[in-house]
This record gives sequence, structure tokens and C-alpha cells, in this order.
Amino acid sequence: MTGASNLYPTADLRARDAAHHFHPFTDTGALNREGVRVITSAEGVWLTDSDGNRYLDGMAGLWCCQVGHGRGEIVDAVEKQMRELDYYNTFFKTSHPPVIALSERLAQLSPPQFNRVFFTSSGSEANDTVFRMVRTYWDLMGKPEKKTIIGRWNGYHGSTLAGTSLGGMTGMHAQGDLPVPGVHHIPQPYWFGEGGEMSPDEFGLWAARELERAIDVLGEGKVAAFIAEPIQGAGGVIIPPDSYWPEVARICRDRDILLVADEVICGFGRLGSWFGSQHYGIEPDLMPIAKGLSSGYLPIGGVMIADRVAEAFIDKGGEFYHGYTYSGHPACCAAALANLDIMVRERLVERVADDIGPYLQQRWKALGDHPLVGEARMVGLVGALELVPAKGDRSRKFAPVGEVGTLCRDISFGNGLVMRAVRDSMIISPPLVLTHEEADELVARAARTLDETYAALK
Ligand code: PLP
Repeated sequence: MTGASNLYPTADLRARDAAHHFHPFTDTGALNREGVRVITSAEGVWLTDSDGNRYLDGMAGLWCCQVGHGRGEIVDAVEKQMRELDYYNTFFKTSHPPVIALSERLAQLSPPQFNRVFFTSSGSEANDTVFRMVRTYWDLMGKPEKKTIIGRWNGYHGSTLAGTSLGGMTGMHAQGDLPVPGVHHIPQPYWFGEGGEMSPDEFGLWAARELERAIDVLGEGKVAAFIAEPIQGAGGVIIPPDSYWPEVARICRDRDILLVADEVICGFGRLGSWFGSQHYGIEPDLMPIAKGLSSGYLPIGGVMIADRVAEAFIDKGGEFYHGYTYSGHPACCAAALANLDIMVRERLVERVADDIGPYLQQRWKALGDHPLVGEARMVGLVGALELVPAKGDRSRKFAPVGEVGTLCRDISFGNGLVMRAVRDSMIISPPLVLTHEEADELVARAARTLDETYAALK
């Protein structure tokens, strides 16, 4: 696995990183003792580190690099844009061609109720925007009491104050005394882990009706919105039973609360449709987006706003006192436009639905036969392997939770495959350009990793 060249002095990079870089979502103290892995270049689905080792990027960066790494076309589009108009803002009655073109493009690509987009630089900022937009919407509708937003335990909506609060990660809540007031969480539709004796569909209905029960307790007149990822990503690729989303959509409609589908991971082809909500046949009122919008080449996110909400603001809202210096940054819009051009030209969404998606799913699900795997699940190109101590018994978990997952993740790196560990689940979300040969390679490396992890536990 070690390549010939060593252009970068790893020890020097590690020492400088340890001295000056405080990492996100990292125990920086522990990392500094271990030594960081330094990624120096990337091409297609492959990453190279400072020692010349190559890894198959099974996570598409952080669930974002749909078109693969190293696409010169995006680089050229950004360079051209920066030479023409490096930066200008979109506040105070100004706009520019790339932000106009991207807004129009997103309106064309998204479901019919969406004709407008508010731009941000990230998914977290998109969810902070959602938070203020939802509450302001109900003020404008003459129902200022409708303020509570319901999210789900183990949901992830980013790490700003609103993002952390809307998400249901208790470890995150504990840092910063969150959630902020006015957020309520209900159980997740995690059949494998929490479904008990119920069938998946019974459990899906039960989990959906937890929303209705929460609305009854909180009071319909007090609840503003429900926010959820079509498939929970960071929570461990929690794929809801088929019965779940139609029931959630019915409840939101019947009880007059806004439905927010967080599409930051599921959007832009990940599930084999442009948006995850299309895969589940639901019609949200707001869709936070980011990641695959630019394949991560430059930071850009946003909120797709359904006409029902946008028109309330436009007709009676006056000024929305909200925005970011980089909302609709010209270079980021140019990167997103070039990325979307590639996705359309190479039919990447269709490919996930009809070709590479089913191809990888079949092989991935076969890993479910491994003695260490309790369930192998995948929709589109996002999947998980649940590692269990006793195959066939969903009630038993490894203790302490997460140790086996971390071991498996480290072994996977050693085998040249990036998988992410969430508790004791191994996650993949590869670039949508993955070829059949690369899919075979990914599965072979994952299988070897499972064998080695299993052997290490004996
Ligand atoms: N929403 C979801 C569903 C996510 O998965 C993420 C990031 O993983 C976010 C929001 C936050 O996005 P960002 O990290 O760009 O702030």
C-alpha cells in the first residue's frame, strides 16, 4: 500500500498540526499523542496520504464528494468566476449572475413546491436559518404561539447552537448546555437497535406516531415544525421502515405543522433521487441543503423554501434580518453550478438508482452473512454494517459501545478503505462516480476488514 514517493515529511506535519491545529469533532489531546493522518492529494475515489498510502474514499470526504475528487472542470469554473467577480454580497438589493443562475437551477432540480433558495456556507448555517424562518413564518401567519420545533433523538443537524439543539445527540447537548428552549425530541425510527419485538413496519408506525403523541402533549397550537433527515446519516445510517415517512407526512399535514426534511446528506443523488424526500414520496416545506451541492469543492449550503413559506415572507414579512457575508458567494455558486453540470451530464443520480446503486447494494448486503454483522443495509449509495457480539440477537450490543467500531475503523484504514464508525456500525457513503471495479474493491476491503476485526476479538 505504501507508494514510492514521500513528498511530505509526515513527522514535521504532525508536529506542526499538534502544536497549532484544534480539530473539529476530535479528542485533540489523544490525537496529538497518536499523530494525525495527513491527506495530501485526491483523484476520483482515491485519497493519498503524506506517506504515499492510498485509500478508497468510502465516505466521499464527509458524505459530500458526489462527483469524485480532482475534477478540473470545477476548478476552472471557480478560477474563471474569481477572475471576473471574486466576491460581492447579496445583501442590500444586490445580486450577481452565478447566484441567480444557481437559484434558478435549484428551483428546476427540486420538487415543484420549491422555487426559492436562501444561501448559506454550510448545513449548520442552513439549520440556523430554518430555526428562525420557521418561527418567523408562524408569527407572520398570526400564530405566534407556534414556536416549538420537534426533532429526533440521535438526529444530526449540524453543530451551531440551533443545529446542535435541533439534533438529538446527547453528547453534543452536554457541551454548551443545550438544547435551547423550545426544542423537543422524539424517538428515532431505528428498528435494528430499538424495534424490540415489533416488525419493522409496526415499529415505523409507532415511531411516526410518537410525533403525534408529542404534538398532543405539547399542544398543536404550540408546535411549529418537525425536522428530520430522510435517512439519518451521522446517527448511523438509520433507514426508516417503509411505514414511517407516509405517516409522518400525514401527521404534519393534519396537525398544521411545517415539515423540514434535512437534505444535507440525502440530497443530490445520495439515495438515487435528487432529494431524499422524493425517494420517500414526501413534500417538505423547507429543505436544508449543503455537501453534495458543490461536492465539497467549496463551502456552500442553503435552504430550499416552499412557495407557501416564501410567499408569507414576501407578501407580509418585510425585511428578514438574517444573512451571512458569504450567502451566495460567487465562487461557491460557480463551483456548485459546475458540479451540478457534471451530475446531470454524467447522469449520476440515474446511475445511483439503476446501476451502481443496485450493484453495490447487492454486494454490500452479502456482507450481512459475516459472523460479526447483525445487519447490512443500504439505500442508494449510503449504507451501514451493524457489528454485533451475537449474530441473530438484536438485543445484545458490544460493551463498551463503540470500542469494536473504532477498532474496525482503524483496521479498515490499514486496508486502504475509509469507513466511518458510528458506535459499532461501519458506515459508507462513497462518491457517486464509483465504478463497478471500485465497488468490488470496496467490498473486498470491507470483507477483509471484518475478518481481521473478528480475528482480533477472539
Ligand atoms: N445536517 C445534516 C443532516 C448533516 O449530516 C450535517 C453534517 O454532517 C449538517 C446538517 C451540518 O452540515 P455542516 O457540517 O456543513 O455544517
